[in-house]
Amino acid sequence: MNLNSQSNDVEEMKILNVIQHGIIRLNQQFAIIAIDSEIELLFNKFFYKRNDEPLNSINKLTGMQWQNIVSDLQGSSPENPWLVACQTKVDQTVKLTLNNKDALLSLSLRYSPVFDHNDSVLEVLVFIVISDTIQQIEKDLQIEKAFYRAMVKDMPALIYRYTTDGIVTLANAELCSYFGADADDIIGMSIYDVMDAENVEGAKIHLAGITPENPICSHEHSGKDYAGNVRWYQWTDRLILSNDGQPLGYQGIGLDLTERKIHEEELLRLATTDTLTGLLNRRQCFTLAEQELARCRQHNRPFSLLITDIDFFKHVNDRFGHMAGDKALQSFATLCTKALRDIDIIGRFGGEEFIIILPETDLQGAIISAERLRQNVEAMNISFNENNLKITVSIGIATNDEHPEMSLDSMLVKADEALYNAKTTGRNKVVTWPIKPPA
Ligand code: GH3
Ligand code: MG
Ligand code: MG
Repeated sequence: MNLNSQSNDVEEMKILNVIQHGIIRLNQQFAIIAIDSEIELLFNKFFYKRNDEPLNSINKLTGMQWQNIVSDLQGSSPENPWLVACQTKVDQTVKLTLNNKDALLSLSLRYSPVFDHNDSVLEVLVFIVISDTIQQIEKDLQIEKAFYRAMVKDMPALIYRYTTDGIVTLANAELCSYFGADADDIIGMSIYDVMDAENVEGAKIHLAGITPENPICSHEHSGKDYAGNVRWYQWTDRLILSNDGQPLGYQGIGLDLTERKIHEEELLRLATTDTLTGLLNRRQCFTLAEQELARCRQHNRPFSLLITDIDFFKHVNDRFGHMAGDKALQSFATLCTKALRDIDIIGRFGGEEFIIILPETDLQGAIISAERLRQNVEAMNISFNENNLKITVSIGIATNDEHPEMSLDSMLVKADEALYNAKTTGRNKVVTWPIKPPA
């Protein structure tokens, strides 16, 4: 097909879309006397342009027998309606379907003979109404549907549709593989039976918020796929409305956020933890400590803080090497995590110094925890290469038991004073603030 014929085709299709009716005049012998140019073009398109032949010029239909044109268009009809119209003097209306590879049109033809005063036929008028373009619309719709289906199939997202009663009517391949099921299994189920039980309440709340005025709801949440892997999705649920605003059902699209979430969690971990020990870093430890202190104050609960410093740690490095020192720091961190409660906050203050926050813990409780930690450290064997090294710690404690208004900063100062005292009075010991003179 060359460019010219392509642009011709576009023009023709435009005409086909625009014309709604036309008229043809037949003489007494039923040959065409006159024909609307648009109808002539239309017939040319269906009559002459068969088998993909380009329509380069319009074949003039004037003078041709109507019988030939109609039978060529549609095959012979048992009784020619124009003859019947002439014989009965009653207008005849018939349907004629035009069909080629580009389009399918349904025409309504009304044969209306004109008689002279002797009742002889002068001519026959053929009124043509393009009565039905629905078939073309349906064809277009089929094409649209095919594209839509391909899009739903290929989209890297979980897609499903459900009725206003929550019954699934469509599930794409991605959704099926997430649930490890066939579409046939999922379709017909309630969405609440399809999703994880723990997401049902949240989903009901989200759906309740979707209205014709506010038809979209977007939220992120995690779920487990059929293999038990936790995956994060950005879900967008939309209420689909008919042209006159009636709810037709919902469509849900879930975009996989798992990789992004893993990345975000990793960034958060890097920003909040100490790389060597895996404990909280100084900043994060202070942030959480401030929150805990505020919470304990609000509920009138005690709050204690320990500063822990490894004794003569320089000697460990000097004697066994920096790597051995690193191993000792890691072993100490692991021991702290095991020896303390889940609610306790453990952070690396810097070097071989650590902060431990004991929420809901008074001075006596803090002394017990600190002493147990000190003893566990003393008893710990750290093996590095061939060596078995030992460390001890000194611990300074501050508690807000008697001074609930004390700030975190001043508690740190107090605990540091206590620690200094522990260091200067022999190490491997626990000292509280206020520092009690030796008994
Ligand atoms: P004290 O009992 O008075 O606390 O003595 P100390 O030797 O522990 O204290 P000092 O402050 O003199 O030395 C701390 C040492 O900790 C020096 C430093 O090289 C070492 N250190 C700090 N951070 C790290 C680390 O990440 N890895 C290793 N291996 N050593 C570290
Ligand atoms: Mg030290
Ligand atoms: Mg130190």
